[in-house]
Amino acid sequence: MARIAWLNGDYLPLADARISPLDRGFLFADGIYEVTAVLDGRLVDSAAHLARLQRSAGEIGLCLPVTFDELEAIERELIRRNGLDQGTTYLQLTRGTAAERDFHADDDLAPTLFLYTQAKDIIGNPAARTGVAVVTTPDLRWARRDIKSVSLLAQVLAKQVAHDAGAFEAWLVEDGHVTEGSSSSALILTADGALVTRPNSHAILPGCTRAAVQVLAEQHGLRWEERLFTVEEALMAREAMLTSASNFVLPIISIDGHAIGDGRPGPVAERLRGVYIETARAQN
Ligand code: PMP
Repeated sequence: MARIAWLNGDYLPLADARISPLDRGFLFADGIYEVTAVLDGRLVDSAAHLARLQRSAGEIGLCLPVTFDELEAIERELIRRNGLDQGTTYLQLTRGTAAERDFHADDDLAPTLFLYTQAKDIIGNPAARTGVAVVTTPDLRWARRDIKSVSLLAQVLAKQVAHDAGAFEAWLVEDGHVTEGSSSSALILTADGALVTRPNSHAILPGCTRAAVQVLAEQHGLRWEERLFTVEEALMAREAMLTSASNFVLPIISIDGHAIGDGRPGPVAERLRGVYIETARAQN
C-alpha cells in the first residue's frame, strides 16, 4: 500500500510529494514541526501539540494556514488512509518557497505545510522492558530551544554521539546541568522520592508528554519538582526516565555507563508509563 502524505492541500503518495529546493525550510531550516503520537488509530494529547505548534509558529512570525479543526481532520484522514494503528503524525510548516535564496523573506510567501504518518509499535517497544542507556554530551543548540524548530543539526549530532556509544539517547548538558534529551524530556527520581525536571524556559522544549506525566504523577502522590539538576545528581538518582510523544515514558538504566539505581527499569518509571498509556487510551 502506498503511503499517503498531505502537502499544501492535497493528499498524495508520499513518494510523489515534491517540495522546491528553494523552500526556506530546506535552505535556512526556516520552519517548525510537531510530532503527535497515534495509539489505537487515535491522536494522543492532540490539543497540547496543536497549542505548541501555534506557539512555535507565532514565535517565528508564521500563521498556521489551516485551523486546528482542519489540521486534526487531515491527521485523522492520514491515519485512516495509511491504516495506522500506532505511531506518529509528523507536521512541518516552513516559511515557503521564494524565487531566490535571500535571507530576508517577503511577507506574502505562501507557507509550505506537510504532514505524513510513521508506523511504530510504541507500546511493544522492547526498550520499555529493558530500559535504555543514556550518554551526556554538551548542549550545542541555539538560545530558543522552546521553539520546535526544524533546525536540528545539534540534536542530530548528539544522537550520533549516543548511537556511537551504543546508547539510546543523549542528555544535553549546559553549565554542568542537564537541559533535556536530544529528542525527549529528562527526569530523575531523587532518593527522597521527588520527580525532578528542568523548568520550562527558552533552554528546553516544553514537552507535551512531560506535561501530561506531571498531572498523572501528582495524581499518584508523587512530588513534582521543577529545578535544574546536574549530571552528578542524575548519577546518584534512584531512577531516571525520559518522555516524548514517540516513546511515551522510558526508564533509563544507565548514564555514561554508570548504573542508575540497581541498573534495572525503576518501578516509578514503569508505573508512570502504565498510567500514561491507560490515560492515552481513554482520551478519545
Ligand atoms: N525535548 C526535545 C528536544 C524534543 O525533541 C522532544 C520531542 N519532540 C521532547 C523534548 C519531548 O516533547 P514531546 O513530549 O512533546 O514529544
